[in-house]
Amino acid sequence: MVDNNYLLLTPGPLTTSRAVKAAMQFDYCTWDDDYKKITQSIRQSLLALGAVDNQSYTAVPIQGSGTYGVEAVISSVVPTDGTLLIAMNGAYGQRIGQIADVYGIQHVDLIVDEREPITLSAIQEIVAQHDDITHFVMVHCETTTGVLNPIETIVPWMHDRGIVTMVDAMSSFGGIPIDIAALKIDFLISSANKCIQGVPGFAFVIANKVCLEAAKGRARTLSLDLYDQYAEMEKNHGKWRYTSPTHVVHAFATALEELATEGGVAQRYARYQENQQLLVTGMKALGFEALIPQDYQSPIITSFVYPTAAFDFKQFYDDLKVAGFVIYPGKISTVPTFRIGNIGEVYPEDIQRLLIAIQEAVAQ
Ligand SMILES: *Cc1c(COP(=O)(O)O)cnc(C)c1O
Repeated sequence: MVDNNYLLLTPGPLTTSRAVKAAMQFDYCTWDDDYKKITQSIRQSLLALGAVDNQSYTAVPIQGSGTYGVEAVISSVVPTDGTLLIAMNGAYGQRIGQIADVYGIQHVDLIVDEREPITLSAIQEIVAQHDDITHFVMVHCETTTGVLNPIETIVPWMHDRGIVTMVDAMSSFGGIPIDIAALKIDFLISSANKCIQGVPGFAFVIANKVCLEAAKGRARTLSLDLYDQYAEMEKNHGKWRYTSPTHVVHAFATALEELATEGGVAQRYARYQENQQLLVTGMKALGFEALIPQDYQSPIITSFVYPTAAFDFKQFYDDLKVAGFVIYPGKISTVPTFRIGNIGEVYPEDIQRLLIAIQEAVAQ
């Protein structure tokens, strides 16, 4: 077994623990009772992480990467006569627009600069111009830049207008506390390989049961039919429709146990915040400025502006990789940036080591 893995400082797939990797050594049967019990316990744990109970909410896993989960929600929930408001300030918001286009779903886009958060006032303005909006979706942590969007002010306001609310919390759920019921989120989407620190292979949706049951028969695809996946899991006590990623699910169960051992979401959030602060402070001392002001910077991933026009990212990336760290290129067009994630099995000591490696790379 390869043991000297580099540390992934990326927003997922991310560095997982040894125990999470080891959990994949067992070949489970996809419809066996033992395996179905694991699925049921995962569903229950996900509800607890979102501070909701199984009276009003249900957790539904769906095979595939995170985008499959977003696509499952959009294509299964918005009816043919509905209109979706999409708040966009990065690539993941834009991707939701692409999904809506593929299915011919009517949508109104609120487009905000990628370096700025979505604001309640911008939402209020667009809602005032469109009285046909029935559904709303926004991204919590826009991984494109690391901007943290204020779901706590926007989502309840939308919900109070009778609009069904959906949040792409892919890169935040499990790493930032989210009280789903208090925030009036009807559908929250995340995946196995982000802050819960599992391996890639499935997405999951935490859904308001009334809204999910209303989606019966609306799906535009067979395999991404969220209601149908839910109905099968309920009827057959944790059975997935079609082959499930058994090894990934078992690894995820281990990742959930580790999250509990760490002290739950609050503790993990504190660790990510500590990582992020250390990183920004250390980088500043080395001459790298963060793209996003700290007020709306997430503790998940940070974009840094190239320090000079002559900055050679490829060389920098290669030097860090040799030193045992894999970072991420930037994703916005307006400013040349690169990104460093600090989620996963990554601790303050790792950030300290990274900063030394960066100091050496820039000194060359
Ligand atoms: C990772 C991510 C996704 C999903 O990406 P996949 O590559 O499909 O897993 C969606 N939204 C956000 C905000 C993300 O960070």
